[in-house]
Amino acid sequence: MNKLPASLQKAIDFFDKLPSIGGKTARRLGFYLLRIPQSDLEEFAAILLELKKKSHYCKICMNLTEEEICAICTDSSRDSTMITVVEDVIDLLSMDAGNQYNGVYHVLHGRIDPLNYIGPEEIYIQQLLTRIKEDKNTIKEVILATNPNTEGEATALYIKKLILEVAPELRISRLAYGLPIGADLEYADYLTLQRAMEGRRDL
Ligand SMILES: [Zn+2]
Repeated sequence: MNKLPASLQKAIDFFDKLPSIGGKTARRLGFYLLRIPQSDLEEFAAILLELKKKSHYCKICMNLTEEEICAICTDSSRDSTMITVVEDVIDLLSMDAGNQYNGVYHVLHGRIDPLNYIGPEEIYIQQLLTRIKEDKNTIKEVILATNPNTEGEATALYIKKLILEVAPELRISRLAYGLPIGADLEYADYLTLQRAMEGRRDL
């Protein structure tokens, strides 16, 4: 028999499904929400309801935005001749945290991972190729910053091959020094990422 009120148990079960949250933390969060004022809870609920409705992908780079074009793509002080390709938005945020890189991005929203049934069509490679084709004269370099693990490397090589078909002259590089093999960009500090960017090599 359930010892807790069903509504509280449902909230706890939901928290338990979130990444990095174990059963104990889920319970703590559930009880915490029960203690805060009703108005705060309603505000939180409203934020959650808006979250997915308002966020969508930038038409140019697939970053998340509430507008048609994201803040990075609309920023005219950024160097649009350089595109860094990342697996997801969290990687974009890590890359951008140091304010050293001033180019633009392309977010794949995943990586090629045959074991988990994620093929090239499941991620946003085609949009990158279209962008390169359309802006062939402006874009000077594409930096493939997929994660330095098996799937990330395979994704980078696959994308490189496709880019060369549409823009054979384009410089394509890959992040290098400082990033341990198997690491996740999300957890790298910005100094490490900055060094990886500086030490990037042609692919
Ligand atoms: Zn954008």
